[in-house]
Amino acid sequence: MTTKLSAVKGMNDVLPPKSAAWEGFEDAVRALMRAYGYRNVRTPIVEPTALFVRGIGEVTDIVEKEMYSFTDALNGEPLTLRPENTAAVVRAAIEHNLLYDGGKRLWYTGPMFRHERPQRGRYRQFHQVGAEALGYAGPDVDAELILMARRLWTMLGLRDVRLELNCLGQPDERARHRDKLIAYFEQHADALDDDSRRRLHSNPLRILDSKNPALQPLLEGAPRLLDELGDASRAHFDGVQQLLRAAGQDFRVNPRLVRGLDYYNLTVFEWVTDRLGAQGTVCAGGRYDGLIEQIGGKPAPACGWALGVERVLELLEQDGALPVAAGPDVYLVLAHEPAAARALELAEELRAAGCSVLQHVGGGSMKSQMKKADASGARHALIFGADEWTAGEVTLKALREGQGSEAQQRRIALQPVGALLRELGFDA
Ligand code: ATP
Ligand code: MG
Repeated sequence: MTTKLSAVKGMNDVLPPKSAAWEGFEDAVRALMRAYGYRNVRTPIVEPTALFVRGIGEVTDIVEKEMYSFTDALNGEPLTLRPENTAAVVRAAIEHNLLYDGGKRLWYTGPMFRHERPQRGRYRQFHQVGAEALGYAGPDVDAELILMARRLWTMLGLRDVRLELNCLGQPDERARHRDKLIAYFEQHADALDDDSRRRLHSNPLRILDSKNPALQPLLEGAPRLLDELGDASRAHFDGVQQLLRAAGQDFRVNPRLVRGLDYYNLTVFEWVTDRLGAQGTVCAGGRYDGLIEQIGGKPAPACGWALGVERVLELLEQDGALPVAAGPDVYLVLAHEPAAARALELAEELRAAGCSVLQHVGGGSMKSQMKKADASGARHALIFGADEWTAGEVTLKALREGQGSEAQQRRIALQPVGALLRELGFDA
């Protein structure tokens, strides 16, 4: 006997009817990106490992322990399944010289891979939608990106996501803060946990991001990066806040918001919820002015975000607000075999006019076909029976409530097809 095969742990199949929610979500995302003039990019799922090590930073959860890395068996090349897509978008922009004539607004969606402990809202293959504005320096584009996410929540009917903001300043400001932070944590070395002690000299800022409850009082008292900001950083941060206020967007400045990835500077933000347990961040992003140069491009500023599709859909599901699939317009019942070829032809004519038709296949009695028609969620059944066939007609039967009584059905001539289409609510 062969052993039963199943999906890899932490990696999920998306099947009907739930896949309709994914499609509805993707439709909203495409409309959103069009509304803001962001253009789609598709990069490979596998990239050279060095891209993420250089782009994300060596002392990060992702690079330290979450990457699916392997060696290409044929040529020995170190490769990694992408854990996120900003580094790859930047790689592609540099490789194809996308910024030669100015800034570019780009977006992507697709699967990402991280070797984490699977739990609600945290998977090993998960999906992100991301928006990246490359080549723009001002707070205006930061605000645009944030408001874009807000518009998506509105389009989807997503409630209860709050905006948190912080400013990470520039490298020199961070270096000053880093010295103070190390001094502070060294003073309190006994209170640190192992992870934090390990990061103390490599990446002390990330200690602020720790979720260990025992560390929280210590973190509350830590020196704040906001106190180290110079005039330019402060002006940028004020600019973002002013634009958000003018747009009626509430936010909370959270001085401990540092983000998991190393490449951010100036504005960082997260859209968060209390309704997903520890997986409370739905969308995260910020400015990463140093990344393009770090990956080998001509220095250029950039800002972007990524959202977790599974987390957004989980929230919508909690609210009973998942996008649902509409049933077909017509279920075509074939109860008289000689009509088969004409039925197929009619189905094609209807589809050409934009009408969706689910055609019964496999024969069976009228009764069993009508049962399937009902179960399909179709608005109408279109019935080819022996009587109708002789008369050159079909029977149109309304299947859903609100379309008149159960008995509402009528015979309609097969020719011209326009009459039938009008009856179904389509322009002939
Ligand atoms: P977290 O703190 O939850 O681990 P992160 O800082 O690692 O998040 P980012 O790298 O900023 O996450 O990714 C952006 C978004 O992608 C997150 O806010 C989240 O919505 C989603 N995301 C990240 N990792 C996962 C995962 N393993 N499973 C599902 N969604 C994820
Ligand atoms: Mg993470």
